[in-house]
Amino acid sequence: MNNFMTYPAVINPNPKAIIKYCIDPRFVIAFKGFIKDLGFDDEVDIVKKFAGGPVALAHPKEMPSRSKWLRKQLEFDCDKFSSIETLIAIMHEDCAYYHTVPNKCHRLGKERSDLPFIGSFLKHYFPSKEIRLYYARFTKNKTKITFEEVEQLKKVYLTEPLKILTS
Ligand SMILES: [Zn+2]
Repeated sequence: MNNFMTYPAVINPNPKAIIKYCIDPRFVIAFKGFIKDLGFDDEVDIVKKFAGGPVALAHPKEMPSRSKWLRKQLEFDCDKFSSIETLIAIMHEDCAYYHTVPNKCHRLGKERSDLPFIGSFLKHYFPSKEIRLYYARFTKNKTKITFEEVEQLKKVYLTEPLKILTS
C-alpha cells in the first residue's frame, strides 16, 4: 500500500491580493464567483476566511487582541510577498459573528457600516496598497447574493485606538 499522496507545489508564488471574508457557508459559492469576476484567483491570491471576516479592524479599541492579530497576519503576508498590491475586505448581511462582538460595536446596519472603518484602518497601516471594500447582501427571496462596493472613510479617524495597538 502506498502511504504517500503527492500533489503539485506552486513554484514561485506571486499573490497579487489578500482577500478577507467570513466563513458563513451561505456565501461560499457567491464569494468564490465574485473573487473570480474581480480578476483574482483563490489558488493564487491569499484568501483569509474566518468567522466575522475583517470585522475586528472596524473596532480596534473594543476588540484589541482580535484586530492586532489580524493586522499582524496582514503585515506578515505583505512583508513576505511584495507582489501583493491590493487588500480586499468583504462583509456580509446577517453575520452571526456579531453575537461575539461587544454590544457597543453594533452600529446601525452594522456589517455594511463597519466597512468604511475597516478601509480606514487598512489604509492607515498599509498606505501603499489599494484597498477595496465590498458588502454582500441577499436578494429579496434569499436565493442569490449581490455585491456592492463601499467607499472607505476619507480621513483616518483611528488616532485614539491606534495608540493602544502600536504601544
Ligand atoms: Zn459572517
